[in-house]
Amino acid sequence: MTIEQTYFRKGFGLKDEVRPLIESEYHSALVEEIRARGYQARYGDVTVRLAEEFGFCYGVDRAVDYAYETRRKFPEKTVYLVGEIIHNPHVNQRMREMDIRFLYPDSKGRFEFSEVEPADVVILPAFGVTIEAFEELRKIGCVLVDTTCGSVLLVWKRVEGYAKDGFTSVIHGKFKHEESRATASQVRKHPNGRYLMVRDMDEAELVCDYIAGRPGKLSREDFLERFREKSSDGFDPDRDLERFGVANQTTMLASDSLAIGQRLEAALIEARGPAYAAENYRSFGTICSATQERQDAVVKMMENPPDIMIVIGGYNSSNTNHLAHLCRSYTKTFHIQDSLCIDVETGEIRHKPELAAEAPERTETEWLPEGPFQLGLTAGASTPNNKIGEALLRVLEIRGTAPEPSTLAQSE
Ligand code: SF4
Repeated sequence: MTIEQTYFRKGFGLKDEVRPLIESEYHSALVEEIRARGYQARYGDVTVRLAEEFGFCYGVDRAVDYAYETRRKFPEKTVYLVGEIIHNPHVNQRMREMDIRFLYPDSKGRFEFSEVEPADVVILPAFGVTIEAFEELRKIGCVLVDTTCGSVLLVWKRVEGYAKDGFTSVIHGKFKHEESRATASQVRKHPNGRYLMVRDMDEAELVCDYIAGRPGKLSREDFLERFREKSSDGFDPDRDLERFGVANQTTMLASDSLAIGQRLEAALIEARGPAYAAENYRSFGTICSATQERQDAVVKMMENPPDIMIVIGGYNSSNTNHLAHLCRSYTKTFHIQDSLCIDVETGEIRHKPELAAEAPERTETEWLPEGPFQLGLTAGASTPNNKIGEALLRVLEIRGTAPEPSTLAQSE
């Protein structure tokens, strides 16, 4: 194969062949029926309301398509995946069943590719990979199927542009998340590229205090210690926070990213005045449209909050965590990883009760109201519809009701 033939970003033209299989594995007729009825349906004493945007986004759709196409295109080859294709345990399990092997990173997010041979095929996930991982794989010479989402590539372009112009990238994101690591690595395309990652407003305020030189700000040493893992090598807060541009992981809470950018700009104005800030601060919202639409749909639903909200998606899925966090401020919310978190026998639910990734699961017994109630449903961008349908069926079963048999026959 020539160099060109070992790198694929547009699939293999097998979409029509793999679509029926993907549809059969991830489709839910029940979910489609509720959508067709205007996102609301009543089953027994449960009124089900579906958010108007939920589930698989365009980037995930594409990544899953390409993974299935890859397996079909190279049936005899060893196929690897760098990390998880998306953050959904069910979809990742399907990848394993198709004999796609997973390469996992170490605690610092670095991948080890020594087992990959030139004859192998490696799929890059929707979140992308770091420059270093990409270059290492190119050197091996294996076939690369790159499913990095176009919205992630836009953030990379922005961050690379900041580095090229001598601006530090301040990235609102989780430094352990694959996408943020890959995004931060883009600054290394330029010799003096720098980044600093802030997870939330509390961390952003520490940076603001430092920039503005406020009383009680962290000392230089404490700042470096606090952001040691979240900044580029050789980061110097006195030098590298003089000019910066803000970007974010595509799946953060949009309102948080906006507020963080505004606070950072205000700190630069406080330190050096508006004319200086106008020249030396840049901002570009990089929340992807799919994340934005799912968050907007939840906000719309919460104009009249349901009694209970179930949010379905991987516990390590950033966009799902933010959807659940948003819902919690309006109503009783359960973030479940999978429909199996709802136990029909005992009537219990296992869920992640907090935003923090490391928050342990909690089991609730009396979680459903006694009389008629409204149940809201949404799902993260990496959750297939069949998992939403299965979760709903489980709740209905606990309530002793079920959709019409015609619906059940076509779906779960
Ligand atoms: S959540 Fe957004 S950035 Fe991530 S894969 Fe989906 S569309 Fe792309």
